[in-house]
Amino acid sequence: MAQRSVTTTVSQVVAPPGARLGGRLITSLVASAVLQPINATLISVALVPIGQSLGACAAEIAWLVTALYLASAVGQPVVGLFVDLPSTDRPSQDTPVRMSTGRWRREVSPDDRTIHCGVVLLTVHAYAAPSATEPLAKTTITRRDVGPHDVLIKIEYAGICHSDIHTVRSEWGEAHYPLAPGHEIAGVVVETGSAVTKHRVGDRVGVGCMVDSCGKCVSCRNGEEQYCLEGMVATYDGIDRDGTVTQGGYSTHVVVAEDFVLKIPDGLDLAVAAPLLCAGITTYTPLRRHGAGPGKRVAVVGLGGLGHMAVQIAHAMGAEVTVLSQSLKKREDGLRLGADHYYATSDESTFETLAGSFDLVLNTVSAVLDIDRYLSLLAVGGTLAFVGAPAESLGFGVFPLLTNRRSLSGSMIGGIGQTQEMLDFCAEHGLGAEIEIISADRINEAYERVLASDVRYRFVIDTSTLD
Ligand code: NAP
Ligand code: ZN
Ligand code: ZN
Repeated sequence: MAQRSVTTTVSQVVAPPGARLGGRLITSLVASAVLQPINATLISVALVPIGQSLGACAAEIAWLVTALYLASAVGQPVVGLFVDLPSTDRPSQDTPVRMSTGRWRREVSPDDRTIHCGVVLLTVHAYAAPSATEPLAKTTITRRDVGPHDVLIKIEYAGICHSDIHTVRSEWGEAHYPLAPGHEIAGVVVETGSAVTKHRVGDRVGVGCMVDSCGKCVSCRNGEEQYCLEGMVATYDGIDRDGTVTQGGYSTHVVVAEDFVLKIPDGLDLAVAAPLLCAGITTYTPLRRHGAGPGKRVAVVGLGGLGHMAVQIAHAMGAEVTVLSQSLKKREDGLRLGADHYYATSDESTFETLAGSFDLVLNTVSAVLDIDRYLSLLAVGGTLAFVGAPAESLGFGVFPLLTNRRSLSGSMIGGIGQTQEMLDFCAEHGLGAEIEIISADRINEAYERVLASDVRYRFVIDTSTLD
């Protein structure tokens, strides 16, 4: 019997993180497999536990094995998915699936069921939330093999964004668990795919909030991949193009399509650069869009991770910058970061004093605010731009908008091109995040401090502490 052909794209087929050997895993693997551009009219998927007889597999995979036999009998290409189970285990539906560590390929002679290929997956250390209500804990996750257009990055630092907390606690909708968050990633390229042209081994690189998009729609063509009409693939808790759930930067390595990997300029320290990949770009984009610059009065609401970058960037762009914080506790920091003025929003007189004063109010607050009060701070034609993302809806009256031709606006991260522009801008102006570097075992504690507005001004995880 002739050996069946299988293309190398099979290496893209991965089990979802935390997958168990039940029906859902099979369905997901099959879905992943058929999404691959394999030249076959029929693809059968077999799950072959290493060191186990097929008879020991869960009942759900029996039909797959049958399909494998049938496919080989009629000469169809066959995809083999090898699942590495400890030989002492008795696999059942609840058996956690450990994909093989490292890289290997396995060939079985045609007479042995005509399987010719193996999946290649990397198992890496990570910190992940098991559910919305449990603390994050040390674990391992898998990364796909390095495809032709991918780079493998050794992550050195990962920032903690408030969005990580919203997501792992399912505040924005039910997340997929276990979930390793983190979309402020800085590290070094350790391997490149055969067709990669933009990055080389040893390059200092970053990855932000997205890892893929369609590349063809009007948003992608306009360099706004974050608004991809087919939906961008978020760095974590996103559905990747192979159907798997993405896992973020609280881990030691990540595999990302080269187009979504940014270059970190030499002048920027990796730890300081990591938060720029979200906090930096999320504030840079609306500041640019709304013309922050000389002669513009910009207020930044909230001096947290995003806010402290907004102050630095708006100042560097030449705008007159005012911080609106809950209290005056961080006033000295705000002024040092480049603010010209600093007010406490807990002081009622602030809203009277500053009425009609700003061309742009950039709201970075993670909680619900009284919108009408912040609209009243805008001059004629001014804009209240939202980047802060509380899950709740915010009511507002139209009169504060109508009477002064004001606008309400929102903005989500920024395109890849503009993210590179922002990184270069920060390097040129000597800007970076003010950070507190923590070991991975302090992530849960850091979350509590972020929630208490007790962060100055970004926690950054030293990922070497994950090993
Ligand atoms: P953060 O570090 O926690 O900063 C938020 C700041 O908001 C706090 O430091 C605090 O500043 C202020 N604040 C918190 N609770 C408040 C309350 N109840 N009332 C008034 N002010 C309050 O969070 P972050 O990482 O900068 O993220 C901020 C928000 O932006 C989050 O909702 C996050 O999900 C969102 N985000 C959106 C995007 C996007 O693409 N649009 C990207 C990243 C993050 P003061 O102590 O100075 O008052
Ligand atoms: Zn973020
Ligand atoms: Zn698109």
